[in-house]
Amino acid sequence: MKKIISVGAGDYIGPEVMKEAKKVLESVASKFGHKFEFRDVFVGGASIDEFGVPLHKSQLDIIKSSDALLFGSIGGPKWDSVAPEIRPEKGILELRKSLETFANLRPVKVFSELIDASPIKREIINGVDLVVVRELTGGIYFGERKTDFDESGKEYATDTLKYDEDEIRRILKVAFELAQKRNKKLCSVDKENVLDSSKLWRKIALEVSKEFGDVEFSNMYVDNAAMQLILNPAQFDVIVTGNMFGDILSDAASVLGGSLGMLASASLSEKGKVAMYEPSGGSAPDIAGKGIANPIAQILSASMMLSISFNLQEEAQAIEKSIEKVLKTHRTADIFTSGTQKVTTEQMGDLIAKNI
Ligand code: NAD
Repeated sequence: MKKIISVGAGDYIGPEVMKEAKKVLESVASKFGHKFEFRDVFVGGASIDEFGVPLHKSQLDIIKSSDALLFGSIGGPKWDSVAPEIRPEKGILELRKSLETFANLRPVKVFSELIDASPIKREIINGVDLVVVRELTGGIYFGERKTDFDESGKEYATDTLKYDEDEIRRILKVAFELAQKRNKKLCSVDKENVLDSSKLWRKIALEVSKEFGDVEFSNMYVDNAAMQLILNPAQFDVIVTGNMFGDILSDAASVLGGSLGMLASASLSEKGKVAMYEPSGGSAPDIAGKGIANPIAQILSASMMLSISFNLQEEAQAIEKSIEKVLKTHRTADIFTSGTQKVTTEQMGDLIAKNI
């Protein structure tokens, strides 16, 4: 199989960890007989330096004409003083808008080798392997908002949480299809006892569930879901929810695994369109240039790309298995425990690539 991959390495630790992800992809390509052609693009701080804006049309054109975008984290203190309209983060927002990535997938898998790195007790965290699917382009973050003064002079502010049935249906379908490929369990999270938007969400979720009879479907209120993620996270396979609830729940879920350096994410559009794969964490300026960043989040992002955009399941699993094997004996500083050998970013990438 031949695929063209746009690579936006990003800022600070971005290029360091991306180098290792590319190395692992090359190893997969040679083992399984594929060809991955990388096209480097500038987005974020690197783009401000190159073009004066966080996302230039020329780069977007390259991204849109490729099969997927492997992305690093962007931003950092170097660009703290640039004008608000050209801040690095604007690059990501413009990218999401242009690619219409309405579904954000954040997997949380607790590798048994890292169980003691989690802030949660071993017996609770054991076996956790879940994905939060968050609706990314609708809901309260995109609704009408207003700050004003009422007749008595009191200041007030409103934000509108609006979803239409099509927006709900398409994210539910992404989540059900994902559950079908995994452990066939889907929990839809809402606040149906209070919000009309959640009543509609639940109605459509139930309707879509009828098309996926092989998936065990349940609903949960968001307050309970927040509690269950800490009390019994292993009960979940796929969780699907709206933009704001997903924002909060996916951050809560992300700490289960122990380190930000282990967490990947995917932002998907309609089938067949370019999807974006990136670590959940930021550009970690505090450790950049020291060779100690954990490249696994970036490598797992590449593995998600193989599985979701290219349907290369065996190849994606080969990456995960290699990571599991290497973690038994070697760790970067963020996940280091005694009895293992501490390695640099580059050494970790070499080991994972070698074990494919
Ligand atoms: P951060 O996620 O970069 O760092 C938080 C902590 O986690 C730091 O101590 C860092 O060293 C550690 N960390 C993160 N990734 C790691 C890795 N791979 N290996 C080892 N340790 C790792 O968050 P921050 O410091 O708040 O943000 C830094 C910059 O990143 C900011 O400019 C922020 O805007 C940006 N950011 C970008 C994205 C993105 O590109 N999607 C997301 C979040 C933050």
